[in-house]
Amino acid sequence: MLIDIHTHLVNPNFYIKEGKTNFAINLFLKKTNYTNYKNYIANLISIINASKLDKTVLIAIENSEVCANNEQVLEVCKNHSEFLYGVNLNPFDKDIDLKVQNAHKNGVVLVKILPSFQNVDLSDKGCIPFFELLKEYNLPLLVHTGKEYTLKTKFQNLNNPDLLENAAKIGVKIICAHCGTRIFLHEKNYFKNWAKLAMKYENVYGDLSAMITPVQIFDLKKILKSRELKSKVIFGSDYPGFPCDFSVKATGNPIIDSYNFYEKIGFDDTMFKNAEKILNL
Ligand SMILES: [Zn+2]
Repeated sequence: MLIDIHTHLVNPNFYIKEGKTNFAINLFLKKTNYTNYKNYIANLISIINASKLDKTVLIAIENSEVCANNEQVLEVCKNHSEFLYGVNLNPFDKDIDLKVQNAHKNGVVLVKILPSFQNVDLSDKGCIPFFELLKEYNLPLLVHTGKEYTLKTKFQNLNNPDLLENAAKIGVKIICAHCGTRIFLHEKNYFKNWAKLAMKYENVYGDLSAMITPVQIFDLKKILKSRELKSKVIFGSDYPGFPCDFSVKATGNPIIDSYNFYEKIGFDDTMFKNAEKILNL
């Protein structure tokens, strides 16, 4: 089964005109012909069907005006077989046991955490019971790593892959979104931190989502040069994100353009096979 591990759903109450957004979000949504919630879902389904992919993981984000929450994402996943459920949880929620249990009952395939947006330090010992739960339910943890660009965020350093050492030691399957990379040259790059963690722990991976700007090419080439790192990456588009590398002839389908780009520079089927293996599909 071919999977895109990283796609987003817009909040049903989101309207571009209300200004609850930034330049990047507006650009992404306009490019995908967004007019409203229903047309966003229909467009994404036709984009998946036109590609060689079977399904995408739809990621929920709680407390965001831009992205849909757990309940909304679950509803869409129940009604459309093209989507797999990615729940957003906070390890410090009082009823976290119940939330993990419920998500599991609802067929969740992964848990997403955005440390800087959620203000969660994943190296905090308080997260250990949560990691043990994920291990028990065999649920992978997808963590945003590297600078957060689209959601309001205070402490960017929370997105450092080094903070995932406890979870890695416990044996949680960890996917570092964007492999810790940066989009602009002057920013802090956590790529080396990701690479070190991925080399050290068998259960640590990275997703290729939104690694499509000219700056990230340097890090992508480092992955391609290392057999070990190349075996640790998973395909993701970060839809409605699209490739900003102009060397790829755009088809206008952001998911096709993303995997065409990775295939062109030398990534192979491992980036799809890893998703199947990690998500137990
Ligand atoms: Zn994303």
